[in-house]
Amino acid sequence: MHKLTPYVPGEQPKLDNLVKLNTNENPYGPSPKVLEALTLEAAESLRLYPDPNSEALKAAIASAHQLHSENVFVGNGSDEVLAHVFQALLKHSRPLLFPDITYSFYPVYCGLYDIDYQTVPLSDDFTIQVEDYDQPNGGIVFPNPNAPTGIPLALAEIEKLLKINKHSVLVVDEAYVDFGTESAVNLIKHYPNLLVVQTLSKARSLAGLRVGYALGAADLIEALIRVKDSFNSYPIDRFASAGGIAAIQDQAYFQDTCRKVVATREALIAQLTALGFAVLPSGANFIFAKHHTRDGAEISALLRQKNIIVRHFKTPSRIASYVRISIGTEAQSLLLIQALAELLQPS
Ligand code: PMP
Repeated sequence: MHKLTPYVPGEQPKLDNLVKLNTNENPYGPSPKVLEALTLEAAESLRLYPDPNSEALKAAIASAHQLHSENVFVGNGSDEVLAHVFQALLKHSRPLLFPDITYSFYPVYCGLYDIDYQTVPLSDDFTIQVEDYDQPNGGIVFPNPNAPTGIPLALAEIEKLLKINKHSVLVVDEAYVDFGTESAVNLIKHYPNLLVVQTLSKARSLAGLRVGYALGAADLIEALIRVKDSFNSYPIDRFASAGGIAAIQDQAYFQDTCRKVVATREALIAQLTALGFAVLPSGANFIFAKHHTRDGAEISALLRQKNIIVRHFKTPSRIASYVRISIGTEAQSLLLIQALAELLQPS
């Protein structure tokens, strides 16, 4: 176990007046209906174990995606769902493929479950080229939009990949899909080897509740349930179930929140561009940007002195000049732009 290299999440400092733009949380609270559902749940039933099969939550998710409960697997955040996916579906004699620049938890799961993997370089403009995955593999996984770049991959490209790659599971991690990227969920009915993973942490503003899920053909879901039932009978507690159902059912609130985040993102991209940043196209609630003269580590350190935290990745070296900035409220965006304008002033 001492050989394991764990994933390092973005920090959660306990400082007042922090502009926290480092972990892609939603700046808006969850739907008021979630809070009502949690209050009711607290009053009624915490003495009792939750439903080990999370039937009510699965039914709500299935209905929102026009699928059946047998197509839904739920877990304690999509990180836990992904962990079970890696263990149940992606461990084979051929290597698992994922991009060289992507969610850094993937190689960690490979280490934990002893899965052979190979990274596939993104092209020079940081896009995924699906033809590059046309090689022997035991599975393919990537986020759409990709992280930390934020770049979306068109649905037609995902379908092209499914047509090339029929004999192993393709996992599309759609943690950030609701901020302007096309979901692959509707392809599930046509491609039994497609698994789509989503979360309530981002677009539904519930990172603290820990609910994630996978959508796919019933036999893929059944394999995940077998792993889950060998690990933890109750990953979804009563709050997660009640709050999750309320969040999923409040479509109007969800759409409104996503719209606001996207509008702030587009305004922020324009302002950063005016300050000399190159910003990658984003279909997510964050952007990946580099300044034409200042290094990513420097920008991140300077912002920190002004109580603004963004995320900087030292490796791989191709992205060291970038910073990843989560989209906050309009007021937070303004503070960020003011701080950068001051910091970048020619001295
Ligand atoms: N996938 C990607 C690409 C992510 O960035 C994250 C958030 N770190 C997750 C999955 C996991 O999110 P959660 O466990 O909160 O659902």
